Amino acid sequence: MANVTLRNVRKTYPGGFEAIKGVNVDVGDGQFCVLVGPSGCGKSTLLRMVAGLETVTGGDIDIGGRVVNQVEPADRDIAMVFQNYALYPHMSVYNNMAYGLRNRGMPEAEIKTRVEEAARILELAPMLERKPRQLSGGQRQRVAMGRAIVRQPKVFLFDEPLSNLDAKLRIAMRVEIRKLQRRLNTTSIYVTHDQLEAMTLADILVVMNGGQVEQVGNPLDIYEKP
Ligand code: ADP
Ligand code: ADP
Repeated sequence: MANVTLRNVRKTYPGGFEAIKGVNVDVGDGQFCVLVGPSGCGKSTLLRMVAGLETVTGGDIDIGGRVVNQVEPADRDIAMVFQNYALYPHMSVYNNMAYGLRNRGMPEAEIKTRVEEAARILELAPMLERKPRQLSGGQRQRVAMGRAIVRQPKVFLFDEPLSNLDAKLRIAMRVEIRKLQRRLNTTSIYVTHDQLEAMTLADILVVMNGGQVEQVGNPLDIYEKP
């Protein structure tokens, strides 16, 4: 089970800026939660706290029944997909996906199974020997997702993963992510400022503003209200 629960979570940056002012969110096991809201409302700060990339000023972050406030990122059983993909340019697609697993000392046979499975799901199988610069933007984004998938984490975190793609590709990748979610059924938290993207992807939508949650619910309930 991998519920993610945020209880009265707060973040004050050094210098005194209060970026998150007491947020409560409950993401059920296997649910796809989207944090949406205008630039500067605190989405990325909140996601980075779940990832352990930012310290928590107050409240609790609970992943799979364990408070992780003091737990190192590598021990949280999460995998994050970043906006800029963060691929290693000198490594092949295969090695980009294998790298983190090798660091953990996983046997090569198991790594191969995982990378090939992810490549099949993401339709990257013919591209495993290419370098990132020999891929399109959409393919690079898929490699970034592949790198998260091979970790087999309890929770996926997405930080505006599609915002560097052109409009057409963004829509196509949105559909891909939705399919991937149905297939893997991994609890996910996804940050975007794009309302349509949020609507399409979310089981549970968290609308943020000024460091607070404005509304929580399923997308149809939220956007169909007069
Ligand atoms: P969003 O992801 O919704 O665009 P962020 O979480 O990036 O919002 O930022 C929320 C607020 O916190 C913004 O006002 C931003 O300027 C501020 N902020 C972000 N990072 C820092 C930081 N390291 N130090 C001080 N303020 C920050
Ligand atoms: P490791 O497998 O030992 O975590 P990596 O080189 O993959 O080694 O990662 C280095 C650091 O970056 C670790 O803290 C790891 O948790 C984090 N990290 C790497 N990839 C991801 C990812 N996709 N999502 C979240 N954290 C990651």
